[in-house]
Amino acid sequence: MQYISTRGAAPVLGFGEAMMTGLARDGGLYVPETVPVLSKAEFAALAGAPYEEVAFKVMRPYLGGFFTDDEFRGLIAKAYQGFHHAARAPMVQLGANHFLLELFHGPTLAFKDFAMQLIGQMMQAALAKTGERITIVGATSGDTGSAAMEAFRGLANVDVFILFPHGRVSDVQRRQMTTPSEANVHALAMDGDFDDCQAQVKAMFNDFAFRDGVRLAGVNSINWARVLAQVVYYFYAGTALGAPHREVSFTVPTGNFGDIFAGYIAKRMGLPIDKLVIATNQNDILDRALRSGDYRTNGVRPSISPSMDIQVSSNFERALFDAYGRDGAAVAQLMGELKAGGFRISQGAIESLRSTFASGRCDEDETLAVIARHWKTTGELLCPHSAVGVKVAEEHLGGAPMITLATAHPAKFPDAVQRATGIRPGLPPHIADLFDKPERMSRVPNELAALQSLVRERTRH
Ligand SMILES: *Cc1c(COP(=O)(O)O)cnc(C)c1O
Repeated sequence: MQYISTRGAAPVLGFGEAMMTGLARDGGLYVPETVPVLSKAEFAALAGAPYEEVAFKVMRPYLGGFFTDDEFRGLIAKAYQGFHHAARAPMVQLGANHFLLELFHGPTLAFKDFAMQLIGQMMQAALAKTGERITIVGATSGDTGSAAMEAFRGLANVDVFILFPHGRVSDVQRRQMTTPSEANVHALAMDGDFDDCQAQVKAMFNDFAFRDGVRLAGVNSINWARVLAQVVYYFYAGTALGAPHREVSFTVPTGNFGDIFAGYIAKRMGLPIDKLVIATNQNDILDRALRSGDYRTNGVRPSISPSMDIQVSSNFERALFDAYGRDGAAVAQLMGELKAGGFRISQGAIESLRSTFASGRCDEDETLAVIARHWKTTGELLCPHSAVGVKVAEEHLGGAPMITLATAHPAKFPDAVQRATGIRPGLPPHIADLFDKPERMSRVPNELAALQSLVRERTRH
């Protein structure tokens, strides 16, 4: 299996290289050259299988022999053994034909653990073979950072730097990043919003001297391996509700477009997905773009679902690449226009996107109302991101069973949940001491040179 860049001008890589490289050297994102389609027999073997088995079957075709089957099974087993639910991704029912896929039973209580725990295992195994040392720099809107630190803390050959927007993540999210005591993880509170953090990470990757000097690696969803690991739970949930013999629909609370792009890949692999619905909070650029054909940023407004406070959705580039018939030059042109504020999606491309994705938005009051209503009628305490998904999903019910992705545990956002329900969700036992631990973080400016020298100093390059 080969990987090509969405901008068409970077080296073609194998799985291992694409995983260790992160951003392509032409500024694009790696995608598989072809998407494997599961056979009927392979599909049949997924229904009712343990999560780890589904993971192995769904991801294996993408590895191109980078790990042996036994190695890969071992890495998957280690990745998910720290989850606090035997089903890994259990489903509950919210109403007639509406299901909630709980993706928050991992160590840091958000869906990011599904990919990050596995990437942690895969990168360690790859580094053990070569004896290399790497520096991971990532941007987070709140949940990627703690998931990455949890996956890499204490490792001898990896340093992890996480940029998060200062003052714009929840207290629980911040503490999950500032309380790990291991010296190889670094929480950096940056002035700006998530888009600024993500832009600085991309700028570091685009500075080749720096990139090669510190041996930069990325774990944001610009990394294909992140997306791939998330394809698994679409199959796990879809087959549980009758696929491939009947269609299913998904609604996905969306920020950087990584999670929903994984759903799109599942569909291309043969999972019969009827509706694939993008749910946004008040930062609704994706919903507006799908309706109007105009992708235009208008500033991030902080919300009670902070992990989705994003305007420049990295992975949308992967969807555009396919919608433009895999024309890398056309994508490069659009991404240039985006720097100046936005671009118009061509007629052919918007029609192609609309044939795959539906969309909706949910504002702040509606988010609180949904949390309150579901607490009353189903006893589910929804996190504000999951609530955005549930509200938009309810507008798209009908036909195939709808599966809404619950992306985080309500205890990560106790203020919003308490405002809506009067209930303050408590942290699960394994992180109950979060507020007793000392915090450690650095305030950093939104300046490339300053960030680079901090990374160089702390890694002694
Ligand atoms: C990251 C995150 C999202 C958005 O996921 P994307 O892959 O960036 O679209 C939604 N909800 C929560 C809780 C998250 O942590």
